[in-house]
Amino acid sequence: MTELIVAREQGLWCEPGRFFVDPWLPVERALITHAHGDHARAGSNRYLAAREGGQVLRARLGDVALETLDWGERIDVNGVRVSFHPAGHVLGAAQIRLEHGGEAWVVSGDYRLEADRSCSAFEPVRCDVFVTESTFALPIYRWRPQREVIDELLRWWSQNAEVSRASVLFCHALGKAQRILAALADAAGEALPGVVVCHGAVESMNRAYRASGVALPGTFAAGDVERASLRRALVLAPPWAARSPWLRRFGSASDALASGWMQVRGTRRRRAIDRGFVLSDHADWPGLNAAIDATGAARVVATHGYADALVRWLRERGLDASRFATRYGDEDEGGEAEEARGKGEGQATASADEGDIPSTSGDEERDAG
Ligand SMILES: [Zn+2]
Ligand SMILES: [Zn+2]
Repeated sequence: MTELIVAREQGLWCEPGRFFVDPWLPVERALITHAHGDHARAGSNRYLAAREGGQVLRARLGDVALETLDWGERIDVNGVRVSFHPAGHVLGAAQIRLEHGGEAWVVSGDYRLEADRSCSAFEPVRCDVFVTESTFALPIYRWRPQREVIDELLRWWSQNAEVSRASVLFCHALGKAQRILAALADAAGEALPGVVVCHGAVESMNRAYRASGVALPGTFAAGDVERASLRRALVLAPPWAARSPWLRRFGSASDALASGWMQVRGTRRRRAIDRGFVLSDHADWPGLNAAIDATGAARVVATHGYADALVRWLRERGLDASRFATRYGDEDEGGEAEEARGKGEGQATASADEGDIPSTSGDEERDAG
């Protein structure tokens, strides 16, 4: 029997449908799970994605030939039935379901099980073969509820604001930042300890979220806020901005990183930051297992992260498990794994992300003047 999806040089290839899913090289037709740079790359001729992510994807890829589908809407692509289902990872993130010859495959992209209002909630989709991410596929990764982490984050910000010290929070510019903004506003309402200042890379994604109908609290560019307010501000910036001159204006700020990797003792120390908040847009270990169980799939293929560990575990449980070699995991939170595993300083992450951001971050650099 032909495989519905195989890993090719350019990406995950669906032979009967004649398309790729999240190709890492330019192709004729690309189905995209979500807008993070390791899954959505420029240069392909035609793109198909979930409607919810249309604005975000355009903010990332520019004016590409993009078709979108509503959640659950089915189309036929060369005899393959294709539909998109929420992955709960970032705005518009989809699991892609493919059906052909009586067999259903689901390609998960990245996914998160805990729901919040910054994107549609993860929905389990039944299938025969589940192609899953495995970024945090080790039993040590177990997330606490978002609300607890946000309360902790608010306390940290308040304490800093009381002594007129800015709070610089490094977080992924697409998804994590907007999730935090929405959650902070919901938790504290009007009682936020100060203004929120966003790096240009974060603000361009805020704009795409707002344009997509996600309500976020007001945010400011650093140049628009007077000095006294800067010292009480929460500053959201992507991790790659950690050594940038843009940060100097905040003086001796307290800094922190919001990431699943903060669960590992030593990551914070290696990065020389003051605080770590364990907040991830990926499934934790129980989440991965719950998601896999819910598909009912007898066969599972892991793509990126601790794929070998997951494959071993699933085989012990009697599942047909294997892995695809992919190039995912270098742009989103997965990219921080390099640092978590002590393999370097994440410069690859930095340039990949920077390359994806249009001129907006440059604008902000100029205001700084
Ligand atoms: Zn992602
Ligand atoms: Zn990814």
